Amino acid sequence: MSAKGDMIYASACDPEIKRIGESGGAVTALLKFALEQSMVDAVLGVRRGLDFFDAKPVLITDPEEVARTSGSIYEGTLLLSKLFGKYMHGARDLKIAATLKGCDAMGIYEQAKRGQVDLDNIFMIGLNCGGATTPAMSRRMLTDLFKVDPRTVKKETMYKGHLFIQYNGQEKDLSIPKMEEAGYGRRSNCKRCRMKIPRNTDLACGQWGVREELVGQATFIEICSEKGADLIDRAQKAGAIEVEVPAASCIKARKRREDAVLSLADSWRESDFAPLKNSKERLERMIEETSRCIKCYTCVEVCPALFNQIKPYMTAFPGRVPPGFEFHLIRYAHVADSCINCGQCEELCPMDIPNSLFMHAIQSDLEVCSPEIISRPT
Ligand code: SF4
Ligand code: SF4
Ligand code: SF4
Repeated sequence: MSAKGDMIYASACDPEIKRIGESGGAVTALLKFALEQSMVDAVLGVRRGLDFFDAKPVLITDPEEVARTSGSIYEGTLLLSKLFGKYMHGARDLKIAATLKGCDAMGIYEQAKRGQVDLDNIFMIGLNCGGATTPAMSRRMLTDLFKVDPRTVKKETMYKGHLFIQYNGQEKDLSIPKMEEAGYGRRSNCKRCRMKIPRNTDLACGQWGVREELVGQATFIEICSEKGADLIDRAQKAGAIEVEVPAASCIKARKRREDAVLSLADSWRESDFAPLKNSKERLERMIEETSRCIKCYTCVEVCPALFNQIKPYMTAFPGRVPPGFEFHLIRYAHVADSCINCGQCEELCPMDIPNSLFMHAIQSDLEVCSPEIISRPT
């Protein structure tokens, strides 16, 4: 019997799922099994849209369709949490299994705190996440650094601090820290993110800790809830997945990898937040940057902590563009304790205002000074 806290290697028993699925197809096999057994009514995943740089959310009810969501999309900077409230009635009348990054899961908890979703009806399959790059940045990296035509790239993989690409039957890789030192790479919020292994979900799945000869053939799963343990046991018993216990040395290697990534995130926090340390300078910088605001409300609309709260922003400050710093102060006050550093308000701001940086700086200070008000699983 599995239990919360257990760590396993898992892979699909079905040879076709194993072949097309990422890292042995364990996640695809689990989702398919959950649908087949009516443990859930639908699966929410992400698949490739119009091209390699386009991530598209899909809701699947046919188990045979689950494999269409296999594989990683690093340019997919979607945040799935708001979809539950916006299009799925907060999962109140539908049991949904979703593949989620740590920030997606945090967004769901923020919505649950506001009564917008029914957590009991959401099965969270967490995917380890090293970070995402925007499609525009990705094209620049491929052209400038890899010297490859972005249209020829078929696959990207992050492994051991390198970004690997496959194109025209060839493979190339570059060191991610080196690309980031040169001003390329992941979104700045992702660089600062510490939610790399999403233990806030039911099952945290990824590659770290998979022993060398199993890389690409098995997924390392940390069981993070009783619900997760139950799915693993049932899927294993029914022959949907096969499971192996990792050696202690592999678990230690995973921990070392995680520690290294978290320490890198901490150094990005230090360097990003350093210019904002002094409260007067922070305020001056915020006033200056937000003076470009065109009051498009995108930062309000996309924020998982501001679900359904756009109206007061739309009626405040009529006729004023830019709207005045009060507009942003209200947003800071609404979100300060809840910001999950998902980066949406910054990435989608048409005026390139570093909204996420400001909000994350405030939230991080609150986390240190008043941790009791940040209430969500970590
Ligand atoms: Fe991944 Fe964190 Fe970036 Fe979300 S914020 S995409 S979890 S690195
Ligand atoms: Fe202003 Fe940018 Fe927010 Fe639009 S997204 S309201 S421009 S800060
Ligand atoms: Fe995400 Fe920005 Fe809202 Fe923070 S303030 S949760 S970074 S959208």
